[in-house]
Amino acid sequence: MNKLEGLTASDGSAVGPLFIREQSSYETSSKQVSLGEVQQEIRYYRRALEVYEHELEQLLIKLRGTASEIIKSQSLILQDEQIKGEIINSIRTNVVSASYAIDQVYELYIGRLRDSASNLFRQRIIDLITIKDRLVKLAAAYSERSKSDEQADTNLELPVSIDSTPQIRGCIVVARDLSPTEVVQLSESKVMGIVLEKGGLTAHAAIVAQSLNIPCLVQIGTQIQDISSGRIGIIDGEEGVLLVNPSPETIREYKTKISDAQVAKKKIKPSRLPAITKDGERVQVHANIEFIQELPMASSYRAEGIGLVRTEGLLYGGLTHKSEKEQDMYYRRLLDDSTGPVVIRLFDVGGDKLHGFTTEESNPFLGWRGIRMLLDEKEMLHSQLRSILKCTQDYPDRIRILVPMVTNIQEVHLLKEELSIVKSELIKEGFTQVQDVPLGIMVEVPAVAVMADKFAKEVDFFSIGTNDLTQYTLAVDRTNDQVGRLFEHDHPAIWKLVQQIQLAAQNEDIEVSVCGELASTLLGASGLIGLGIRNLSMKPSAILSVKKWIHTYMLSEFELFASKIVKVQDREQVHQLFSTIFHRS
Ligand code: PEP
Ligand code: MG
Repeated sequence: MNKLEGLTASDGSAVGPLFIREQSSYETSSKQVSLGEVQQEIRYYRRALEVYEHELEQLLIKLRGTASEIIKSQSLILQDEQIKGEIINSIRTNVVSASYAIDQVYELYIGRLRDSASNLFRQRIIDLITIKDRLVKLAAAYSERSKSDEQADTNLELPVSIDSTPQIRGCIVVARDLSPTEVVQLSESKVMGIVLEKGGLTAHAAIVAQSLNIPCLVQIGTQIQDISSGRIGIIDGEEGVLLVNPSPETIREYKTKISDAQVAKKKIKPSRLPAITKDGERVQVHANIEFIQELPMASSYRAEGIGLVRTEGLLYGGLTHKSEKEQDMYYRRLLDDSTGPVVIRLFDVGGDKLHGFTTEESNPFLGWRGIRMLLDEKEMLHSQLRSILKCTQDYPDRIRILVPMVTNIQEVHLLKEELSIVKSELIKEGFTQVQDVPLGIMVEVPAVAVMADKFAKEVDFFSIGTNDLTQYTLAVDRTNDQVGRLFEHDHPAIWKLVQQIQLAAQNEDIEVSVCGELASTLLGASGLIGLGIRNLSMKPSAILSVKKWIHTYMLSEFELFASKIVKVQDREQVHQLFSTIFHRS
C-alpha cells in the first residue's frame, strides 16, 4: 500500500477505483496530414462536434441552475457557424489534422477575446478553452483510433468520453487540476472523491467540491504520476492522505467508517443543536452559498441565515445569458428557500474566480478584481444592484449587500453613489417600495483591517474574509500549491488583525461576522468566538460540527484560548494551545 500526503480541501472519506484524468496533449501530435486524408479529418471534426453536442445535451438533462447555464453557453459556441467554417477551411487549405485546426482556430479566437476591450467578449474565454480542449481530445481520439483500426473511418462510433460516461461513476478521480465547471460535471457523474496534484485549500475548484459535498484532497504533488487507473484508492479526509492499493482489510475498515459516519449524520437532529455555548452565550451560525442547490442542506442543518452568497456563479454563462430578469429569479429563489438574513455579495470577479473573464494580468489577485472591476463595469454593477433592490420590496429587512475586495474608503463612497442612483431610477420606474439595504464590506485586504476604525464609520457591517486576508497578509497565493503549506489562516498575524477588526466594529456598534474558511474549523471557530465574534458563516457541511463544538465549551474557555493566540509567535504554538485547552489535536 502507498500512502500519499496532501491536504483536505473538502471533508470526508471515500473508497473507490482510481480514475486518472489525463491532461490533453494531442494538440501538436499530428499536425500535417496528406491531401488524401483531408476529407477524413473533416469527418473527424464533424463527428467530434456531434459527440460533444450529444454529451452536452445529456448533461443538460441532469443539471440545473448555474451548472446548466455553463453548459447552455458552451453549446451555443459549439454551434457557431463562423468557427465551424474556419476549422474546416483550415483543415482543407493548410492540410492539417482536425485536432490541430481546432486548436489553432480556437486559440485565435481566445487571443482576440483576450485583447478585446469588451468585457462581454472577454467573458467567453473560459467557455472557449473548455470547448477547445474537449473537441481536440475527441478529434485526436478518432485519428489515433483510425491508425490502429482500418475500419475506424467508416465506423465512427463514440470514443470513450472522459467526463460523462458511467465509467467514472463511483471512482475517485485523480487529476492535475480542475476548473469549477469540471468539478460540477464530476459531481453529476457521481464520483466518490477528487484528488488534485495542484490546487489550494481555498481555490475555487476546492470550494465547489465543498459545496457539492465531494471529499477532495489537494496538493498531492507529482506523486500522482505514480498512480494508475483501476487501482483501489482511499481518501482519508481526516488525515489528508490518499491510500493506494490498500489491503482488503483496510478497505473494509474504511467502508465501515464511512457508513457509520453517514448513519451518525442522519441520527443527529439539527434542531437540538443550538449554537449556544455551555454557559449560554449565543452565536449565530450562517451558511455560505454559491449554488441554489446548497440551500436544502443549509436549512436542514438549521443555518440561521445565509452569511455569504457568492454570486459569481451567475456569470459562468456570461452576463448576456443572465438578464436582469433571470437575476431577479435567482435572488427570489434564494430568499424563498432560506430563512433569516441573506448577505448577497456583489460579483467578486478576478483572482482565481472565472479565469479568463477579465483581461490577462500578471498578478490577478492584485489586479482588477471585485469592487475595482465593478466600479469600471457600471452596466454589470447596475444590473445586479437593480435586481437586488427590487427584491427588497417583497422580502423586507432580509437582504444585505456585501462589497468584495474593498481597499480604500473612496470605493465605499463611490459604491454608495451608485446605489442611490440605482434606487432613484427604480423609484422613477414605479418600484416605489424599494428599501434601503444594510451595506457591508468584506474585510479581506490588510489595509482595511488595519484601518478598520475608519471603515467602521462608513458601513453597516463587516464580513471578514479570512481566505483572502490570509493570502494578502502572509503573501501566499491561495491557489499556488508550491506555497500551499504556508497558507496558515490560523497564523497569529491573522488573529491579531481579527482582534483589531472586532474592536473597531464594537466601538462603532456595527455587526461583524467571519465568512472565510477559518470559521468552519473547530480551532478557528474557538478563536473567533473567544475574540468576540458572534456570527460565523461557513459551508453548510461544517455547520453541524461547529454547532456541536460551540455547545460543548464555556465562553471563558474560548476567551482563554483567544487571549493567548494573539500573543504567540507562530502557528505551531496556536495548535499546541488548542490541544491543551480543548484536549484536541
Ligand atoms: C474570503 O476571502 O475569505 C472569502 C470568504 O471570499 P472568497 O473565498 O470567495 O474570496
Ligand atoms: Mg475573498
